[in-house]
Amino acid sequence: MNTEKTYTLRDLETTEFSGTPLAVIGHPIQHSVSPAMHNAALAKLRETDSRFIDWAYYRFDIAPEDFAQALALFHKRCFLGLNLTIPHKVQALDLIQGISPDAQSMGAVNTLVWDELGYDGFNTDGYGLSRGLELDLGVPLKDANVILLGSGGAARAAAVQCMLSDCAQLYVGNRTPERLQDLLAVLGGVSGSTPTRTFALNNLPQDLPECGVVVNATSLGLQTSDPAPIDVARLPVGWKVYDMIYNPTKTALLEQSSARALPIANGLSMLVHQGARSLELWTHSKVDADAMMNAACHSLKLPLRHD
Ligand code: NAP
Repeated sequence: MNTEKTYTLRDLETTEFSGTPLAVIGHPIQHSVSPAMHNAALAKLRETDSRFIDWAYYRFDIAPEDFAQALALFHKRCFLGLNLTIPHKVQALDLIQGISPDAQSMGAVNTLVWDELGYDGFNTDGYGLSRGLELDLGVPLKDANVILLGSGGAARAAAVQCMLSDCAQLYVGNRTPERLQDLLAVLGGVSGSTPTRTFALNNLPQDLPECGVVVNATSLGLQTSDPAPIDVARLPVGWKVYDMIYNPTKTALLEQSSARALPIANGLSMLVHQGARSLELWTHSKVDADAMMNAACHSLKLPLRHD
């Protein structure tokens, strides 16, 4: 089978995916680097463990209206693991049989694991973010001051991860106040003692601590013409800046932060480590995240990283 092709619901109905199939499902999905990352890691696993000889990871474009039917078919065809991306992460909640407590709090699943009775749901985005912050910026979430920009799905996962990791202080800003309130309501149900404050994106709090990390979880920056979501000049010099966006590799937020000599990183590490965690859930094996990073860089035509 061809793991570079983008498959459809029709393919799922008519094609035999032999061995142990895994897949990412989204709409659109054509530019996803997940198949390259996961198949690179599976190739590494195969070098030392013959259990993975017939494992393969595919890409499926499934429209929201077909998602329920597709999920039932993936299960019937014994796809052991699925990654869900936009727009399926929330819709799946009503269609799975079990959900991990952190995914429940985040209100979204990005990883499904096959079980005889249905799929169990997990969310590895928060884990991916926390690994990315540690590896790229040397910031453990525990005891960190965090400014989180956004209140969509990715921001929810980040905010819950901040609470679960006992960060010191969480400041959350979003364009639409109602959505910010929804996020605060979600956090109210998460155990943890992190004090949380809100702010308007165009008005960063004046009394920020000397150091901390900004995490951009808005989609502002996906277009190269997008401005930075906040006034970077108002960040104290001890702050670091992480943008979940990795394509383009340097958003206006990162450009302006870098011009002020603030340490920066983009979301490629989050992408890689959420994927690595998913693969660990499916394989119960230690996964080579460096191989996944190299494959992602190759797919995105970026220079290889040597951390
Ligand atoms: P989402 O649910 O659609 O949320 C989008 C967020 O961006 C909302 O907070 C929205 O604010 C804000 N936003 C959109 N346009 C804006 C603008 N012009 N000005 C200010 N804020 C604006 O999307 P998501 O799934 O959370 O994803 C958010 C970003 O994270 C995307 O760029 C995505 O690519 C990235 N991401 C990266 C990874 C990774 O592995 N690196 C994983 C997940 C997501 P409103 O509420 O006001 O609309």
